[in-house]
Amino acid sequence: MNRVAVVTGGTRGIGRAISEMLHKAGYKVAANFAGDAAAAEKFTSETGIKAFRFDVSDYKACAEGLKQIEIELGPIDVLVNNAGITRDSVLHRMTPEQWGQVIATNLTSCFNMCRLVIEGMRERSFGRIVNIGSINGQAGQYGQVNYAAAKSGIHGFTKALAQEGAGKGVTVNAIAPGYIDTDMVRAVPANVLEKIVARVPVGRLGAADEIARGVLFLVSDEGAFITGSTLSINGGQHMY
Ligand code: NDP
Repeated sequence: MNRVAVVTGGTRGIGRAISEMLHKAGYKVAANFAGDAAAAEKFTSETGIKAFRFDVSDYKACAEGLKQIEIELGPIDVLVNNAGITRDSVLHRMTPEQWGQVIATNLTSCFNMCRLVIEGMRERSFGRIVNIGSINGQAGQYGQVNYAAAKSGIHGFTKALAQEGAGKGVTVNAIAPGYIDTDMVRAVPANVLEKIVARVPVGRLGAADEIARGVLFLVSDEGAFITGSTLSINGGQHMY
């Protein structure tokens, strides 16, 4: 296996599980992160996977980061757009900054990263892109107009790009996780989290590995006929 995989936000949470699972399956993995250098160093020393610091919301930074990854690992075959943030607020209190940061980090990042790898994938007639959406992009969520809009945008982006890549061996899919036990969810107040878990038919939060397994399945060579789809991994919380 010589395939090169880039995982954005790949040093913590769901991204870390994706990086590790791809690495164990034999992919050459580059894990991107934004600013938590201590977590990235810990990740690299524990896994042996190299971490690359750049801001996925910044096109120029993505271009420089991807160039460095290609120099060190080779042309990119697999891209997992996983980096994401929340800046929750009801709309009547939301600031333009909260809106803009979430759209830029969660959605514009997909444009930035895909735009920079798509030409190479098309030329080499092989590519696998997986965009991490969210149950809240499918169903909406109180206090998350910005996040739901960005994640919902990811699902449309995925279907449009899937149509463009289909004839060139490039598949583009999304995963919509439900509530997964990571730092992002641990930041939710305990009483709110309790109510969320009560609505999950499986009766618990998901594990990051359960999302990673979906990514591994979608990026395999055998996944060539799966494109433009959204895989919901949410313990039955939202069926659609
Ligand atoms: P975490 O907050 O645990 O980790 C986020 C990762 O993204 C970190 O590695 C962080 O880097 C990175 N990141 C954030 N901003 C940027 C940026 N501008 N440029 C590059 N990297 C960045 O998140 P989760 O693991 O919980 O979530 C991962 C994805 O899954 C997100 O897209 C999220 O929206 C989605 N999701 C999560 C759910 C959950 O329940 N956890 C549910 C549904 C979807 P650093 O370490 O440097 O901060």
